[in-house]
Amino acid sequence: MIRFFNTLSGTVEEFKTLVPGKVRLYTCGPTVYDYPHIGNYRAYIFEDLLKRFLLFAGYKVFHVMNITDVDDKTIRGANQLGISLQEYTARYIQAFFEDIKTLRILPADVYPRATEHITDMVRMIKGLLEKGYAYYKEGSIYFSIKKFPAYGQLAKINPEELKAGARVDADEYEKESVHDFALWKKPKEGEPCWETELGPGRPGWHIECSAMSTRYLGPQLDIHCGGVDNIFPHHENEIAQSEAYYGKKFVNYWLHCHHLVVDGEKMSKSKGNFYTLRDLLARGVDPIDLRFFLLSTHYRKMLNFTFENLEQAKASRQRILDFLYEIEHRKLEPGSEPEITSLAEKALADFREGLSDDLNISSALAAVFEFIREINNRLARNAVKQDDREKILNTMREFDRVLAILPEKKEETLPPEIMAKIEEREKARREKNFALADAIREELRQLGIILEDTREGVRWKKIK
Ligand SMILES: [Zn+2]
Repeated sequence: MIRFFNTLSGTVEEFKTLVPGKVRLYTCGPTVYDYPHIGNYRAYIFEDLLKRFLLFAGYKVFHVMNITDVDDKTIRGANQLGISLQEYTARYIQAFFEDIKTLRILPADVYPRATEHITDMVRMIKGLLEKGYAYYKEGSIYFSIKKFPAYGQLAKINPEELKAGARVDADEYEKESVHDFALWKKPKEGEPCWETELGPGRPGWHIECSAMSTRYLGPQLDIHCGGVDNIFPHHENEIAQSEAYYGKKFVNYWLHCHHLVVDGEKMSKSKGNFYTLRDLLARGVDPIDLRFFLLSTHYRKMLNFTFENLEQAKASRQRILDFLYEIEHRKLEPGSEPEITSLAEKALADFREGLSDDLNISSALAAVFEFIREINNRLARNAVKQDDREKILNTMREFDRVLAILPEKKEETLPPEIMAKIEEREKARREKNFALADAIREELRQLGIILEDTREGVRWKKIK
């Protein structure tokens, strides 16, 4: 049984999906006004751990992550440089995709951009106006929090603190200002503007996630993630907009990861303790050590980044890498030890059990290190045999489906003339010239290359 801490209920709950075996996952993506800092990556790595674990546990996951390419910050940035919003955000969008690849974060299935979904937002705002949840005020449109009695349920806001009727225009604001918030902002000098049936203007930040999540995932999601600083106002507002519009529970499980601090302090550019991934790479940090560091503290705990802590993570990852090298290269006696199978099964079961408990990474990693210790003990007394090697390596690879910290297997390639032969055979098959296709297959087999025809196309492997 998988259990997650749900911010909405404030308790650990059993995880059940809306459709058996399938997870609809939405994670708030980057606001592309700057290079993301390592605090942002802590959240994205936590989400990656969650997603990889769900895949490991056998779920199919459909993952949507938005890209905020219009909001107060992106507009300010573009104006400061005197370039278009699109030109300004393009470089940070590209940087984001490069970074997540470097950190081995699995890509989402869809990355909707706010500026490409204005129509979806307009449709939703129109619906909220029609249902009486929203109102016009001097050309802008606001969500009326008093019309939505459940407002404050996620952020645990006392209803008496609600300042209904007072308005806030900013995309981000403090919990002290629990006001009606802007869904649509009237045109302003120096801001991009869309001509829509609501009138001219641009969307607020919060409506973007409500409109784009439901566009790709339907009105109800299994899991919605973000950092704790998204809880209020962003996620609270998303719930209000989506539930008011659809009249259905928006999200079943809200998962939030805690802050990252540097040397025990909040990161800030003025304190000089602000790091992007690029800053760390420039200092020679291995991105996969950073990945391991970011994922090895439980997501609901504050994470303190220091170079010393990063060194510790590096050393503990190195223990795993050394073990892997030893298993791959050690000379072993023929045969097998039945005990290894049961050790591997137990290690995987413990690993899975740990992660099933609200992603308890410490207990999952303890299972990995316990397995390493047990095998090392047996290596020391020659109680690991040749046939056990693959079993042990497979176990390590299974862990790595979730952790993604081992060296990546180098992709084997074929010389161009062989690739040309494979293409020639494909062509022959398409033309139903099976005699030629078979002849080429045989020719390649003589060269030590086996072809397999699968539904995804032709695959090849080398015979040793
Ligand atoms: Zn969002």
